[in-house]
Amino acid sequence: MKNISRKDAAFGRKTQWWFLAPYSAPLRLCVELLLLLCLSTAVAQTNPKPGSHSTRVRPSMSAETKALLDDAIGVVCTQAKLDPKSSIAIDEMQARPSLPVTSPDARAGAERAQRLLPVAKTLVISSLRQLATDYGVQKAPKFQVKLRLAIARVSEVRRVRPDMEARDNASVYLSRPHVITFGTIFLAGLRSDEGMISVLAHELMHVADGDNDSLRTLVAAVGNKASDLTGLDIHGQRGEEITCDLIGAMAVRAYIVSTPDYESIARRLARSIQHNCVELDEGDEDHLSPRSTIRTILALNPGLVRELINDRF
Ligand SMILES: [Zn+2]
Repeated sequence: MKNISRKDAAFGRKTQWWFLAPYSAPLRLCVELLLLLCLSTAVAQTNPKPGSHSTRVRPSMSAETKALLDDAIGVVCTQAKLDPKSSIAIDEMQARPSLPVTSPDARAGAERAQRLLPVAKTLVISSLRQLATDYGVQKAPKFQVKLRLAIARVSEVRRVRPDMEARDNASVYLSRPHVITFGTIFLAGLRSDEGMISVLAHELMHVADGDNDSLRTLVAAVGNKASDLTGLDIHGQRGEEITCDLIGAMAVRAYIVSTPDYESIARRLARSIQHNCVELDEGDEDHLSPRSTIRTILALNPGLVRELINDRF
């Protein structure tokens, strides 16, 4: 059996195709066509599952924590309107016409992504180590081996490939793990280094996890904590997606610390998650809805909540 897997950000989804090996050339072509078809239609799902993020248990957050969290979400999505470099919301990106690879905005985005890829790799590796420590899994000998291999996979990523058909998705095909495929609408919609690093880091975390979900111990721990805090069902693929988003937010925070400038910390931090400030808030089986994603990342990261609230001016 061979597994082709695609893992993606934004509103795309990880999809797996299983087929018998060895496979013939026509079958391979067929599979690749299917892959392309699924990629190009990933954002045009006609049957999303709003409300599939069913509440299983009562959230364990206190009323006070929840109020702080609501304030922080307010800062993120207010900055989405005020900040000239804010990231465009996913639902707005989805409504836009496809953008040629040669358009100035797509080219600028592709250059930004390629320029920031080395920084994003370094930040993902340090954030991943930090997260493993935070969740108490780093000392297990088996996990240490897996973490070393995960870091080696991240180090091997070399290139961002702009793709008009991928629209507002970014993806990693695990059959081509050195390349991050980036839709041109997404490249143009992430208008800051912080927004771009968060999505690059999300994809790099998928690469780190690899095609055998080798970091599942860590991913499950994050998913369990996220489920407890929010009362949402954040297990399986949803756990992986939220872990990728969390690594994205951690990477951006570390980037801001290492590159101080005149902009407020809150404004810069907001860019790491504000592409989720949507009007049309729909999730699916593998992804929380965008607004639930913001809430969950902040619930998992109280330091981010404090900085968004305290450094908003
Ligand atoms: Zn993803």
